[in-house]
Amino acid sequence: MNETARISRDASPSLMGRTLLALHASGAHRLAPKSLAGIGVIFMLHRVREDDGAAFAPNRILEITPSFLEETIGTVRELGYTCMSLDEAVTRLEKGEHGERFAVFTLDDGYKDNLTDALPVFERHDVPFTVYLTTGLPDGHAEIWWVALERAIAAANAMRIALPGNEISMFTRDVNEKNAAWNRIYWALRKLPEHEMRTEVRKQAMMHGIDMATLTRELAMSWDDVRTLAAHPLASIEAHTANHFAQKRLSSSEARSDIERGVARMEAELGYRPQHFSYPYGDPGSADERDFALAEALGFRSATTTRKGLIQPRHAKRMTSLPRLSLNGDFQDRRMLEVLLSGLPFALAKPLRSLGID
Ligand SMILES: [Zn+2]
Repeated sequence: MNETARISRDASPSLMGRTLLALHASGAHRLAPKSLAGIGVIFMLHRVREDDGAAFAPNRILEITPSFLEETIGTVRELGYTCMSLDEAVTRLEKGEHGERFAVFTLDDGYKDNLTDALPVFERHDVPFTVYLTTGLPDGHAEIWWVALERAIAAANAMRIALPGNEISMFTRDVNEKNAAWNRIYWALRKLPEHEMRTEVRKQAMMHGIDMATLTRELAMSWDDVRTLAAHPLASIEAHTANHFAQKRLSSSEARSDIERGVARMEAELGYRPQHFSYPYGDPGSADERDFALAEALGFRSATTTRKGLIQPRHAKRMTSLPRLSLNGDFQDRRMLEVLLSGLPFALAKPLRSLGID
């Protein structure tokens, strides 16, 4: 899951959307130096499914529709990108081969819709893709806590949550109150140590009648699903830890063990050792220098973050901290995609941050 996409923390998504559309209308992205677009892009996705139309859906940023995936593939091809596997793009980056730009599609966590809804689109267009798998999901012990929290707030008329030094008590009767509660509770939970945070969500889920194990079975791939995908010539399955803990918030030994357990489970179930890794959450607060060095020490050929950006030749120097471009459910618009691919918003990131847009 990706938290850097949660721009609603700082600004309304529509403000960021409006900024991207204004840049598109100005044509500035077409005049931007070509070097800003870099040598390729690694897209980050999570879920691919039809929009269910729910009014309260704070996790919608983590999903795009099959038709927007289709449109994205069409757009990058029209812009001259070659869709290729993560492995091939990493090889090019390592060798310094900068031909036509590459586009790589990666999907984090291991949702069932990756198999049922995303695969048919990738097949139709013959596009390779990578799923970064949290092995605790098919194993049944990892918790999709962000959806559990969403469902708890959706079901409740009020939320009470007692965190150390922070007691939150809010009505959640309509969509505005529910969104306000989500923003407050989600970020308060993210500040807690990983194990305490999970305990709190488990408590809330239980109070609101949500069974975390059932939720995992509903949303995540089983090992049979994963094996089906792994056997597909377009798909590759790579590592995303066993428990989906924010690495930086664990001790070194816990962080290493969460990665190693995930790798060991993949070796046991799939018969090979993953070569590539993606950091859970992947933002600067969840993965940093210590974790980049650890991924390198564990022998991964590459590791991706959720830091926003396009791939530049300089990234070859640090293959375990590659940026990605999120295909965010709030920005399912070809014009926004074109502006992002120009690299201009990343070059403007500093001035935009000063305007409160990040
Ligand atoms: Zn994730």
